[in-house]
Amino acid sequence: MYRENFHTHTYRCHHAMGDAADYAGAAREAGLTRLGISDHTPLPDGWTPEIRMDMGELQDYLQAIRQAGETQGILVIAGMECDLNRRYFGFYERELLAPGRCRYLIGALHYYTHKSEEIYAGLIPGAAYLASYAKTIVSGIESGLFAFIAHPDHFAAGWNRWDSETKACVRAIMEAAKGAGIPLEINGNGFRKSPVNFDGKTRPPYPWTPFWEMAAEYGVSCICNSDAHRPQDVTASLDRCEKLAAGLGLKKGTARLLDE
Ligand SMILES: [Zn+2]
Ligand SMILES: [Zn+2]
Repeated sequence: MYRENFHTHTYRCHHAMGDAADYAGAAREAGLTRLGISDHTPLPDGWTPEIRMDMGELQDYLQAIRQAGETQGILVIAGMECDLNRRYFGFYERELLAPGRCRYLIGALHYYTHKSEEIYAGLIPGAAYLASYAKTIVSGIESGLFAFIAHPDHFAAGWNRWDSETKACVRAIMEAAKGAGIPLEINGNGFRKSPVNFDGKTRPPYPWTPFWEMAAEYGVSCICNSDAHRPQDVTASLDRCEKLAAGLGLKKGTARLLDE
């Protein structure tokens, strides 16, 4: 049974509803004991501003999380979902992990760079692109900045080949996660997205079962999160995530928090 969720978004990212207190209230009612708030990070250079808060909203965000913890009767932890791009790693470390700010960061790939071109995570035109995707995930894991990696199998939204090239990419991710000892996220929001169709069969874009079978083989731990963009989704799909993990015998991990 799930007791925590570390992946939630507030209204500040322009594609979610509610604030920290709304999620905290919903989480308490659902019986969670710990809740992480992890909105999309603001960025100093204003990259893709339509899906994230402004730099000027950071203090208010942290304040809202503190207040939610004080008033809602549940432990609320400040975090941030951070795009995996090396040019921001210094900012994450200096600004987001500064004392009194975030207690954990989620590393998430929404775009990867292939031959200096930025490409959407769900668009994998060929195996060389998948290798670039995997390299980006591995660089995030090896940075040591992140408590876990969100939806590491996002690529499966646009890829269904389980061949030797794919396995090599997934192995690289598993070896890095195993080496760093950080969990990979089974992302519940994938279950709530429109299914994708490959060879006449439909499935969720992610979580992708072959990916998680290899995680089990490597003994890499997983963390189950709802990736809620509305307070009423605070525990959405966690049962399906847990079922997938249990079915494959995956080890359960949790978010490693700063000063814990
Ligand atoms: Zn989002
Ligand atoms: Zn994400």
